[in-house]
Amino acid sequence: RLFFVGQNYKSHAKEMGSEANKKSPFFFTKSLSAYVPSGSTISYPPGTKNFHHEMELVVAIGKPVFEVGTQAAKESIFGYACGLDMTRRDLQTDARSKGLPWDIAKDVEKSAVLSAIAPVKTIGHPMSGLIELSVNGEIRQSADLRELVNSPAELIAYLSNFYHLKPGDLIYTGTPSGVGPVLPGDQIEGHIEGVGTISLGISNQ
Ligand code: MN
Repeated sequence: RLFFVGQNYKSHAKEMGSEANKKSPFFFTKSLSAYVPSGSTISYPPGTKNFHHEMELVVAIGKPVFEVGTQAAKESIFGYACGLDMTRRDLQTDARSKGLPWDIAKDVEKSAVLSAIAPVKTIGHPMSGLIELSVNGEIRQSADLRELVNSPAELIAYLSNFYHLKPGDLIYTGTPSGVGPVLPGDQIEGHIEGVGTISLGISNQ
């Protein structure tokens, strides 16, 4: 399954006119048809005029966990990756204002971009380091993993109160400020210090 955390950096919560909440993070999911590997070029999706990039650290679960604390949660992590949570922002803004679900804004085909997963046994647990995204070479998002409101282990522990998490489950841990639109012809590049790199091209429909 593909889990996504909303507003897990204060900087992004602020630009969305909201506040990051440490005690009660909120989640949404995307279906498997949203998955697309780094290095792909995707078509600009139908139904939006404001398709946004969100650069995120992704956690890959490696062991089954249910109702665990943060230590067991940390031990369940197989590895980390770079991810993009591509979003129909206009539809999300509209849904938010009406108190409606986000599915057509977030569960977009080929909108859950994923890099190779770097195993914990190789890179350890990245607790700090630059997370950055550029579009056509211009830096749009730049932050540090230290700014995460809820750590990966805290997110897993919280989610495990509601789900039996399983190997292969992925959690996109939220984006820092600087989200913005992409257009056909754009090339997105992202990297997270100590984790890896990610890229995505956008083409016409
Ligand atoms: Mn996101």
